[in-house]
Amino acid sequence: MLTLHRFLLKTNSHKVKLFKKKYKFNRESLQYEEVKFSFKKFLVKMIPYTISSLVFGALIMFLYIVVFESPEEKVLRAENEYLEKNLEEMNRRLEQSDSLLDEMAKRDNYIYRTLFEQDTIPCTIRNAGIGGSDRYAKYDGFETSDLVKGIAKKLDRLESKMNVQNISYNTIIDEIRHRETVSSSLPIFQPIRPGDLTSIGSYFGYRMHPVLHILRMHTGIDMNAAPGTPVYASGDGVVITADDHNSGYGNMIEIDHKVDGLSSRYAHLSKILVKRGQFVKRGELIGKVGSTGMSTGPHLHYEVLIDGKQVNPLRYMVASTADEYRAMIEAANYTGVSFD
Ligand SMILES: [Zn+2]
Repeated sequence: MLTLHRFLLKTNSHKVKLFKKKYKFNRESLQYEEVKFSFKKFLVKMIPYTISSLVFGALIMFLYIVVFESPEEKVLRAENEYLEKNLEEMNRRLEQSDSLLDEMAKRDNYIYRTLFEQDTIPCTIRNAGIGGSDRYAKYDGFETSDLVKGIAKKLDRLESKMNVQNISYNTIIDEIRHRETVSSSLPIFQPIRPGDLTSIGSYFGYRMHPVLHILRMHTGIDMNAAPGTPVYASGDGVVITADDHNSGYGNMIEIDHKVDGLSSRYAHLSKILVKRGQFVKRGELIGKVGSTGMSTGPHLHYEVLIDGKQVNPLRYMVASTADEYRAMIEAANYTGVSFD
């Protein structure tokens, strides 16, 4: 009791010191004894508190992450939804473009290519894919990977189909250009204007020769006209002869039309207005009517040849009216004497 009394006295006089020190009651000595501070013991004592604090903290963090989102996460989630939605829409639009391209391919195969006598392009070539699954492996690893992969595949297919379509159109354009060349090259134009033409002296076929007086093949049409009447090219082509042929033809022009082996000849000219190697257009002035060579009067002896062999020029010549054509055909049957 005395000790306690002394202790209380001591406590009052050393109040500050009392809070820094710890005392423990010893039942044996019945005295309060000072407890010495041990850092090791303190650490051991603190471990459970630390662990429980950490666990509690982690639990709070987990709940926060699961239940609440940070503003950045909210923005990212919204952006993800936006991207996915738009990718899906693009995917649908690509499917529509693909079917449109298929329609175009059908039209190309069965209308355009058929019209221009081109073989149809088989579906296997039109729809040929771009090989290798590795090509799309770079898109792997995300939730939207399949969607992105699908879009990439569709784009590749579209690109491939469009390339085939482009090649097909180029072939058709080439064919159209070729046909334009063919049609402008064919010797269908009358070398003497109908107004300048006096008459047809002789057509293609067997005729009595005016000089030799024997029945022989007349290899062209004799078109009677005044001397100096303009003579025009019957179709586009290159002049391969433009001189005095040193034969019955006199001054003669021959044009190679570069189509189906066709050429045309203009004989007995008084004047040659083109040179060898010159390119001439249909309807271009090339010479003047004369009576050079083996001829009995001013006229144009006009021939059309296939691979160097004379054919009836009427096969190609276009009459400006139906009556004119009928007259040409009727006159063709007349057996008279040619001017040659
Ligand atoms: Zn003739």
